[in-house]
Amino acid sequence: MPRGVVPRQPARTGRQDRVRVGRTPSPAKVDRIALAQSRNAVVQKAPKNQKKTKPARVKAAAGPGKPPKGYNPVAPERVSEILKRLNDLYPEVTCALTHKSAWELLVATVLSAQSTDVNVNRVTPELFRKYPTVQAFAALTPEQLEPDVRSTGFFRNKSKSVVGAAKKVVADFGGEVPEDMDKLLTLPGVARKTANVVLGTWFKKAEGVVVDTHVHRISRRLELTKESDTQKIEQDLVKIIPRERWILFSHQIIWHGRKLCFARKPNCVECPLENICHAGDKTWSTVEMHKGAIG
Ligand code: SF4
Repeated sequence: MPRGVVPRQPARTGRQDRVRVGRTPSPAKVDRIALAQSRNAVVQKAPKNQKKTKPARVKAAAGPGKPPKGYNPVAPERVSEILKRLNDLYPEVTCALTHKSAWELLVATVLSAQSTDVNVNRVTPELFRKYPTVQAFAALTPEQLEPDVRSTGFFRNKSKSVVGAAKKVVADFGGEVPEDMDKLLTLPGVARKTANVVLGTWFKKAEGVVVDTHVHRISRRLELTKESDTQKIEQDLVKIIPRERWILFSHQIIWHGRKLCFARKPNCVECPLENICHAGDKTWSTVEMHKGAIG
């Protein structure tokens, strides 16, 4: 051994001999835990001298179960907490379909069935340039319109609905889209969802809640309804949501569905509703999940 080189002695504590067990949480996981802790702190402030505990991630261990006795998911305080958090998250949202008139909004909404708003917004500027008035649409046959709306999917049915609606608007309503639910429902291809979009977004009339695929899924996840039929979902929602919030609530839930509460793999860890949401198909949870609350 060369002079001056002293072999390293084992520490008295034996520290260097220990094998590390368990993984250090990744920075992302540490962030998630901190995020959940801060959310829980907003809802339930712990008594001053109570020890702080890490929020448990319930899902993996327990899986969805029955809600506890006496739990009322549509209790007014819970519903207003949901509405408040949606307001904080999406304060000024509106319909994402590009339009400049009630007729354009009606057409865009019909085209948005089974399609994305982005896709529809790609098609409509050229469509409305080519056919600038309801009368121009009324003069078409469905076959003539088909190539223009083909990329939105289900183009044969959609063409039939748009041309049929245009003919009726011109023949029965003087070329003006009616501001009335019953009259709107007489137009071909127009059901309550489209009528509610046009009445709420264009005419600012709260006649109901728009129940599209996002509202359908998220209302069930949040246990605001147990129904799966869109009309029954709407009936449940209008009973528990104040009328002045019907229009905004629909927009907010639709945005929530696009941004976080996806149909597959909702981004629960980023969701400000996480600790009051007991959806059975959450991807991450700090609260117990309920079997029936599936989107
Ligand atoms: S916690 Fe998850 S399932 Fe519940 S609303 Fe948020 S994203 Fe959707």
